[in-house]
Amino acid sequence: MSEETLSNLSREDRSFEPPAELAAAANVTAEAYERAAADPEAFWAEQAGRLSWEREWDQVLDWSNPPFAKWFVGGRLNAAYNCVDRHVEAGRGDTVALHWVGEPEADTRDLTYAQLQDEVNRAANALTALGVGSGDRVAIYMPMIPEAVVAMLACARLGAPHTVVFGGFSSDALASRLVDCGAKVVVTSDGGYRRGAPSALKPAVDEARAKAAAQDFEVEHVLVVRRTGQDVAWDDAVDVWWHDAVAGASTEHTCEFFDAEHPLYVMYTSGTTGKPKGILHTTGGYLVGTSFTHDAVFDLKRDTDVYWCTADIGWVTGHSYIVYGPLANGATQVMYEGTPDAPFKGRWWQIVQDYKVTIFYTAPTAIRTFMKQGREIPDGFDLSSLRLLGSVGESINPEAYMWYREVIGGERCPIVDTWWQTETGAIMISPLPGVTAGKPGSAMTPLPGIEADVVDEAGESVPNGSGGYLVVKGPWPSMLRTLWGDDDRYVETYWSRFRKQGYYFAGDGAKKDEDGAIWLLGRVDDVMNVSGHRLSTTEIESALVSHPKVAEAAVVGAADETTGQAVCAFVILRDSAGDGGEDIVEELRKHVAKEIGAIAKPRQIMVVPELPKTRSGKIMRRLLKDVAENRQVGDVTTLADSSVMDLISSGLQSGK
Ligand code: ATP
Ligand code: MG
Repeated sequence: MSEETLSNLSREDRSFEPPAELAAAANVTAEAYERAAADPEAFWAEQAGRLSWEREWDQVLDWSNPPFAKWFVGGRLNAAYNCVDRHVEAGRGDTVALHWVGEPEADTRDLTYAQLQDEVNRAANALTALGVGSGDRVAIYMPMIPEAVVAMLACARLGAPHTVVFGGFSSDALASRLVDCGAKVVVTSDGGYRRGAPSALKPAVDEARAKAAAQDFEVEHVLVVRRTGQDVAWDDAVDVWWHDAVAGASTEHTCEFFDAEHPLYVMYTSGTTGKPKGILHTTGGYLVGTSFTHDAVFDLKRDTDVYWCTADIGWVTGHSYIVYGPLANGATQVMYEGTPDAPFKGRWWQIVQDYKVTIFYTAPTAIRTFMKQGREIPDGFDLSSLRLLGSVGESINPEAYMWYREVIGGERCPIVDTWWQTETGAIMISPLPGVTAGKPGSAMTPLPGIEADVVDEAGESVPNGSGGYLVVKGPWPSMLRTLWGDDDRYVETYWSRFRKQGYYFAGDGAKKDEDGAIWLLGRVDDVMNVSGHRLSTTEIESALVSHPKVAEAAVVGAADETTGQAVCAFVILRDSAGDGGEDIVEELRKHVAKEIGAIAKPRQIMVVPELPKTRSGKIMRRLLKDVAENRQVGDVTTLADSSVMDLISSGLQSGK
């Protein structure tokens, strides 16, 4: 990589102050930054007071063997007790924990905290009967149904680390995860609903079990929820129906307490940049981090808010911001089984209207899809209950931010653009909605207690107005503890780039603007070097999306004989733009030149019907780079829709 830091080319002058009413009643105010900076350990100890501990910790942080951290040393707690039982004990048993909405429209179910407690206890008893105990791993391969949350909490209650595998993954992906973490039991369902039709899950478990067996690994039991009623193959020695094992089990279960560093779960990363990594999170610090950030960033008022995070539990956002953070905070939330457009395009907005959702957390990819379809769809619903919007997973392009703000947020809701990773466990960089003025496209400021910065090649903090590498300068409670079974790879992957300084680095490029606000610029591996200028994918993509005909864009650098690398762009047009017209490519090239500069002008722009995305909604640029450089495309196992690459390649060959 060249010595020159990222060229910071784009400019954004818009900024939105926090609404006065929200600021006046905000859960966390500006004072928290100073207090946390003055004594981070004292700050985190105070946050740990949000939880119920069976035994208090002796030491807040043990960092004597970096990068292996121990938080709340000597403390004992139970994550499920904190997420469920203590709310019931405090008299909130009748509060709704989950408003579950199935994809078939008539299919809804509310679960109060008291009901959730009964379900979790039953499931914990059933898992115990299947031989699951503290330390045993349990894989969860399920659609977005309440039993998925119940299964996760039952595992937590038993001290059995879960590994949730996205329900859309193939039997190969499931098998490799079963073997990698040595899962004793798999919890699954016959199937789930997707786009109006039942789709099967159990057959993939059967196949995965056979594939694991071929590698000498035997899963002992499969616990199956009946969701769709479709036929399933059955092995009496292994398979157990949930309605037999769980429904009949006792609702009494004595909870055990575990060390703060007891493993809570293993979660594999999205696989955007390569083979997914098995991230290990432990109990105390993780729960402190998710509970604090959920309260601070979403300003949760648990008695009046209805919170909805649209993520799937198969990725970390579902773990931290559907299960552990919100439930630890006693929130009332919506959980939805299906896709945004089933059975009709306004389904999400219908749900916001029906449940009077106040806090809404989603991904830029969804927002851009809605932009593509046009504002008439959300405009048909009453979204006035919303008071706060969140974004996660990728940079939100300024244009998408403005659309989200105006069309969904009615110009009154602040937007929190939250930067974090599977590895960080909880949100790290984000506006605080009652404190920080939001700029479209910027994640703004590290949260209180988090020391994140942008540094140059040598690890020196860059001045405002410059780009470089995003690092975290010290340990934080919800940080990953290691990669499952591979301490060496943990050290190498995250702590070797800035070993001398002891900084955590997980691969993102960023810049600080003139005011010191942080802008994410994409993966450093994706940074393009065009005639000696290092250009960010995010900035060029945002320039393309700011054109009125463009809904989504992905940019990659392809090898080029004269410039080293050349910018290649793939764009999806808005529905209102039709085929874009004959000169669309030239029009867009000029637009990028105007927005950023001639150096960023794409050599090639391809109009495509879809982009390759991971299950967590991130664009997989490495596959597009393979296309741009005429190579066989690489590993596609974490792709949401495997036909997309064929669609792109065939479209390109036919010259469309
Ligand atoms: P893998 O590590 O397997 O390649 P991944 O990094 O996509 O996959 P995740 O942990 O799900 O796996 O995603 C974290 C990454 O998502 C971050 O490193 C960052 O690149 C991106 N990201 C998340 N939130 C934001 C945000 N608000 N702005 C910009 N980028 C974001
Ligand atoms: Mg990553």
